[in-house]
Amino acid sequence: MPIAAVLAAPRELRLEPRPREPLAPGEARVRVRRAGVCGTDVAIWSGAYRVPLPLVLGHEWAGEVAEVARADDERWLGRRVTAEINRHCAARGEAAACPLCARGLPTHCATRTVTGIARADGAFAEEIVVPAGTLVALPESLDDDAAVLVEPFAAALQAFALSPVAPGELVVVLGAGRLGALAALVAERLGARVVAVGRERTRRRLVPLGLTVEVAEIGTRVAPDDPLGAAPSALLERVRALSGGCGADLVVEATGSAEGLATALDLVRPRGTIALKSTPGQPVARFDLTRAVVNEVRLQGSRCGSFVAALEFLALHPLPLDALIEASFPLAGAGKALEEAERGGKFVLECG
Ligand SMILES: [Zn+2]
Ligand SMILES: [Zn+2]
Repeated sequence: MPIAAVLAAPRELRLEPRPREPLAPGEARVRVRRAGVCGTDVAIWSGAYRVPLPLVLGHEWAGEVAEVARADDERWLGRRVTAEINRHCAARGEAAACPLCARGLPTHCATRTVTGIARADGAFAEEIVVPAGTLVALPESLDDDAAVLVEPFAAALQAFALSPVAPGELVVVLGAGRLGALAALVAERLGARVVAVGRERTRRRLVPLGLTVEVAEIGTRVAPDDPLGAAPSALLERVRALSGGCGADLVVEATGSAEGLATALDLVRPRGTIALKSTPGQPVARFDLTRAVVNEVRLQGSRCGSFVAALEFLALHPLPLDALIEASFPLAGAGKALEEAERGGKFVLECG
């Protein structure tokens, strides 16, 4: 029986053999090779993000298709794949689409389940079962480690799909964690001028990616009293100097904290855009709504992106994605990997 790391209760991860259930129509069984540990996994494991348990975590992964239910899907057998995480109507092979899928919003499907997050077991296991409609073939150019970053890369790319930037525009990325680093890399490849802002600790990690990171304490506002105040911080000065005094065209808020939004509002230009990527799970306490209205600032949330778009982008602009991975653990070390990831950093499980 294949082994899975099952989250029975917050911080209670058990390695269990699980019976191989027969596939439902339209499903595929995949032998997992690598699974990435991400912030969402840590949040669910720690109990900060509440979802129905027990659950097998893991939505960033690469593997090889071992079995399919439908003859039509046999072309997938033996192929190296990952899978889109949203299991929407069409991917599940439903005959009729829900109203949101019918409107072209499958990632917001009214009846969706989400691999490793919501009502669908994930990839911290030797095997995973997914709808064949979610499978995405991996190119040879991406090794298994880099392939686990396709999901977060697609999420970073989605910010720019919904908030496009033009070459030469100034983009500030707040928070140089993994998602922020990916967003900064995308913005650079799109021809934007990029200021990535993070902590000292993250600066060293991003050197191999060729990213220059401005060190600043994010979460504290850069213009605490008056947006045009007398004593702005070095960061605000730098953004103003790079923008002729206007402010950034786009600020990607990826700090993971509720406070980052106030900083973003300090740095964005009038009629600029704040791309929201943090999901801190708590309301924002200090946000100057009046300033956002007066400056006609656009707030754009975004979540998952298309894996196909991500792979197309990576084919055009190869990026050293696996430079973001700090260490690998065996599947049996999933609990340890989650503990390490809670302290920061990107880890990968070797599942097979
Ligand atoms: Zn993730
Ligand atoms: Zn739907």
